[in-house]
Amino acid sequence: MSKVCIIGAGLSGLLCGMRLSKAGFEVIILEQLTYPGGLLASTHLGGEYIELLPHHLRRTDKALLSVTKELGIDGKVKWYDAFWYGLASRKKVGYFEGGFATLFNLMIQTITDNGGKIMYSTSVSEITKKDDGTYVTSCVLSDSRKYEIESRYVVFTGSCRTFVNVSHGLPMSMNMRDQLMNLTYQSRICLALLMKKLPSDAYIQLKFPANTETPFARIVNHSACIKDRNYGGQVLYLVGKCQISDPLWVESDQKIMEEYFRAYRKLYPLIKKSDIKSWRLTKVRYAVSEQFPETDLTEPLDNIFVCSSALTSFSTQETPENRMDRITLLANSICTKIIEKDQSDNGHQEDFIVTAL
Ligand SMILES: Cc1cc2nc3c(=O)[nH]c(=O)nc-3n(C[C@H](O)[C@H](O)[C@H](O)COP(=O)(O)OP(=O)(O)OC[C@H]3O[C@@H](n4cnc5c(N)ncnc54)[C@H](O)[C@@H]3O)c2cc1C
Repeated sequence: MSKVCIIGAGLSGLLCGMRLSKAGFEVIILEQLTYPGGLLASTHLGGEYIELLPHHLRRTDKALLSVTKELGIDGKVKWYDAFWYGLASRKKVGYFEGGFATLFNLMIQTITDNGGKIMYSTSVSEITKKDDGTYVTSCVLSDSRKYEIESRYVVFTGSCRTFVNVSHGLPMSMNMRDQLMNLTYQSRICLALLMKKLPSDAYIQLKFPANTETPFARIVNHSACIKDRNYGGQVLYLVGKCQISDPLWVESDQKIMEEYFRAYRKLYPLIKKSDIKSWRLTKVRYAVSEQFPETDLTEPLDNIFVCSSALTSFSTQETPENRMDRITLLANSICTKIIEKDQSDNGHQEDFIVTAL
């Protein structure tokens, strides 16, 4: 049975892990953080899970919706009428009972039921290739212990830039390396607030009154739309684009929170600081890629795959964030390739080799 080492336990990594472990591969997933979900990671609030960054499903997310059907949780997707202030339109948005954690928890269970493993707090530092074609993924645990994992296939799901950094020892063409490195990313800062009340009933606000300068570009009044949840308050997100060269990027969470909230109060002067029940700030360095490469970079070398949202196309008509469906399609196609390749090569038989260094 062939082995696959998957780097990242976000939507892509878990989906690949689920598909490949079900197809009989030995799967190991390495995640640098202490929790799964990547950009879709959740936290506990009141009696519910809620995402650190605002997410919703769209009716057009066909590939992702079919995964929910496959897992038997399509009935847990509820559709809400959402008002888009700034586009002056109404849309249906989908959200899971139990949040996106419902999806992840089931994916993780499927992976482990099929013999797959997930290692958290495990940061991949380098991927190399042996003469026999086996890949060696070197990683560092939070206690500084180092491990090496040998596998026939590797799927990398982090940013393309991180991939270039960890793959410097691979015999990849300069052209391929340059194309991956040239993909630029926007960063995001997101302040999630649990409020006593919300001053707006719009789900998303993209436009603010003229002459109002805000460090955030979007307000997502999650609880104005998804009303039937017991968070112990009303959830609101303030999402900002921020260059990492911007002095705000390196400020403390407390300072950024204060600056964001000050700007928010200029829009809603009746809101007071005492209306905040709790808050959490999330910074994402590689949040959204800005362009789509002209050539297919998803298999830079034989048997190593990059399943990264930067390699999925997006329409300029929509917000560049909307990539869950595209990444689902890419993960599906990468898994199909691996399964077909393995069937035609007849697979390797040896076990995972996990070597403590
Ligand atoms: C603010 C915001 C809002 C969004 N809203 C929506 C939405 O409403 N609808 C939609 O369709 N899409 C949305 N998206 C996009 C969506 O979040 C992503 O397309 C999707 O989550 C990408 O999943 P992924 O697994 O490919 O990547 P990620 O979620 O980034 O997962 C990659 C994982 O790899 C891990 N990793 C990286 N490097 C290493 C390493 N060296 N070693 C070990 N682990 C590593 C990371 O820790 C991470 O967990 C939004 C994005 C943002 C930023």
